[in-house]
Amino acid sequence: MYQFEYHKPTSLAEALGLLAEDADAKLLAGGQTLIPTLRQRLVSPSALIDLAGVPELTGIGRSGELLSIGAMSRYAEIIESPMVRAIIPSLSRTVEVVGDPLVRNRGTIGGSLANNDPTADLTAAVLALDATVVTDRRSISADAFFVDLFETALEPGEILVRIEFPRPSRSAYIKFRNPASRYALVGVFVAEVAGRVRVAVTGAGPKVFRELMFEEALQRKFSPEAVKDLEVSASGLSSDLHASAEYRANLISVLARRAVSAALNEPSHGI
Ligand SMILES: Cc1cc2nc3c(=O)[nH]c(=O)nc-3n(C[C@H](O)[C@H](O)[C@H](O)COP(=O)(O)OP(=O)(O)OC[C@H]3O[C@@H](n4cnc5c(N)ncnc54)[C@H](O)[C@@H]3O)c2cc1C
Repeated sequence: MYQFEYHKPTSLAEALGLLAEDADAKLLAGGQTLIPTLRQRLVSPSALIDLAGVPELTGIGRSGELLSIGAMSRYAEIIESPMVRAIIPSLSRTVEVVGDPLVRNRGTIGGSLANNDPTADLTAAVLALDATVVTDRRSISADAFFVDLFETALEPGEILVRIEFPRPSRSAYIKFRNPASRYALVGVFVAEVAGRVRVAVTGAGPKVFRELMFEEALQRKFSPEAVKDLEVSASGLSSDLHASAEYRANLISVLARRAVSAALNEPSHGI
């Protein structure tokens, strides 16, 4: 480690002010990604701005038909929330399969989305559920938020405040874990929101993406049979020591079928 300033603002305005004053400062949420990155000296910020004391970034609530989750909500809080479980049970279950208990006790939804790891789980949930990312200055659709490998639509000095999820009529996430890292080797989230089917894939490419061929087939008939003969092209998919692009392509088909079955068996979304 090396020297850096540490700030703990107590309001969003104070956090934004600190960020505006210092272009080399970094926001600290749960630290599950940022602290190891600092240790490895992959980043060297002049200051850390700890968001743990910013009340505007906390809380899980309901506003009309939308479920709102504050950026600083830790995974454990989301899992324990009866409201999340009642409105979007698949979201609770997605968070349950993130990392290990330590990661779930410290890591936050905002940190995960701002980081945009190509193998993260919540990116797939946010994209398939057609959620909206709300920052200190604007609302960004999930389709526009995930830009590229570890890159989002967030601008320098912008803070992710909360995520707003519409309630799906059915949804499910199936993850094939990398046994070494616990991240998704491939994960597929299937959702039907406002009459439209959306299928998001994580772990298979440089960023989370929608599988339109599956969406079209499922829009016609929401059943595992509708996608059983669809073959995913390996072109553009990740290939590394963990799995080839062809293996990942096959996994997408298998997991999509399982996710559709799970969504059909999901208890109806309440509240
Ligand atoms: C052992 C291990 C296993 C893991 N397994 C999984 C897994 O299976 N699935 C999975 O999805 N993830 C996994 N993770 C990653 C985990 O989900 C992290 O918690 C997450 O990537 C980052 O969240 P954080 O709150 O710790 O953010 P931090 O590490 O504090 O921050 C991450 C980045 O986001 C920025 N940031 C944070 N909050 C905001 C905000 N409100 N506005 C703007 N920028 C912000 C920070 O500046 C930083 O650049 C794992 C991590 C570890 C260490």
